Amino acid sequence: MTEVYDYAAVGVGPANLSLAALGDNVENLRGVHLEARESAAWHPGLLLPEATLQVSPLKDLVTLVDPTSRYSFLAFLAAEGRLYRFLTARFPSVLRTEFDQYLQWASRTIPSIEFGVEVRSVSQRDGDFVLRWEHGEVTARNVVLGTGQTPFVPACMRPHLCSEVFHAGQYLLRRRELSDRAVTVVGGGQSGAEIVRHLMRLAEPPRSIDWITRRPGLLPMDDSPFTNEYFFPGYAREFHGLPETSRRELLAEQKYASDGIDLATLEDIYRERYRHECLLGRKNWLRLMCRSEVRGCERLSHGWQLEVQGPEPALVRSDVVILATGYEYRLPAFMRDLAPRLAKTAEGLVVGEDFSLALDGRARGRVFLQNGARHAWGVADPNLSLLSWRSAVILNAILGYRRYNT
Ligand SMILES: Cc1cc2nc3c(=O)[nH]c(=O)nc-3n(C[C@H](O)[C@H](O)[C@H](O)COP(=O)(O)OP(=O)(O)OC[C@H]3O[C@@H](n4cnc5c(N)ncnc54)[C@H](O)[C@@H]3O)c2cc1C
Repeated sequence: MTEVYDYAAVGVGPANLSLAALGDNVENLRGVHLEARESAAWHPGLLLPEATLQVSPLKDLVTLVDPTSRYSFLAFLAAEGRLYRFLTARFPSVLRTEFDQYLQWASRTIPSIEFGVEVRSVSQRDGDFVLRWEHGEVTARNVVLGTGQTPFVPACMRPHLCSEVFHAGQYLLRRRELSDRAVTVVGGGQSGAEIVRHLMRLAEPPRSIDWITRRPGLLPMDDSPFTNEYFFPGYAREFHGLPETSRRELLAEQKYASDGIDLATLEDIYRERYRHECLLGRKNWLRLMCRSEVRGCERLSHGWQLEVQGPEPALVRSDVVILATGYEYRLPAFMRDLAPRLAKTAEGLVVGEDFSLALDGRARGRVFLQNGARHAWGVADPNLSLLSWRSAVILNAILGYRRYNT
């Protein structure tokens, strides 16, 4: 007889890793976690050496729901014998490279994770879900989607994607020559800022950097206490209960609670610009174009010419174009059989109070969605802040009782 898991989770980034960590403590729960990569990697193309977490490390996989869990960030530091040195180092924010090590450690320690499994389809058989990949399949009563977000590339740039025109998520993965070249960064959010800072600090920096953003300026992330309440479970529930039009308005108002640039990065960039332009005499080396949008791109015999609309319309010539243009949620292709049965609105998928999708027709279990419902759950949805809480809500729903206090 085919074994039927209580749930199968697809994708093991921080979201489903949190589910695996919290699920590992639960007696008689059978879950399997399937990840396409051969080992855990947290946005490897943007794992810049100086990049830090934008949140407290206590917003790890488990702590805010189960502070006694053996999968906490502190447990990782203790297991690595680093607790005293970590405390003494007094980092203002934890380095992302260290958080990545923590995620890798957790993914090696939790037994129910299978790497090298890229799910290709999900269908239904006798009320259960069957997940298939190249050389295998599993059957489960519930499915938890945790495949992350997809890089967004503006339509005018899509035909030009290549080794020298690429999304920010590929920044460290591309073999490319940047020294003494004209580099353009498109996008004024955190990723764009981190890349600009990195370019400015290269031992052999670019000849020039053009930084183009639609935003009115380089706007800081609002990390103040009352704004941070948007990242509380209580607020997320309140937001979820609002009519769709109110949610849309609030999302626009709250954008910079998560989409701004952190203050330390802004200060670094300001100082680097001062050093290059005032001390090293590189006038206009970093050219910032705000309220500006890339509308077209033309291939030249050497490089590219970007058509920029803004207060001063311009043609910008570049050797390398880096698109820090963000991410969007797309239902994964492997959901094509079930997709027509999922309820949607103009804003996106209908996502219930337990993060399950509204699926038409008979099924014993449900399909849950991690990190795909900003429209329904607010600015905290793609963030680490509510990671453990959301996983606990999903686990409680799968178990049918309140295992975790949510
Ligand atoms: C560079 C960067 C830095 C960030 N830093 C912060 C931060 O400091 N603080 C914060 O709160 N938020 C941060 N975020 C936002 C958010 O926390 C992260 O994007 C986080 O990684 C989201 O986790 P996830 O598990 O939903 O998705 P992902 O981390 O994208 O993981 C999805 C996983 O699914 C796998 N997968 C996809 N398709 C399949 C398939 N068919 N079969 C099997 N596996 C599949 C992928 O290989 C991947 O491993 C950051 C985002 C980025 C891009």
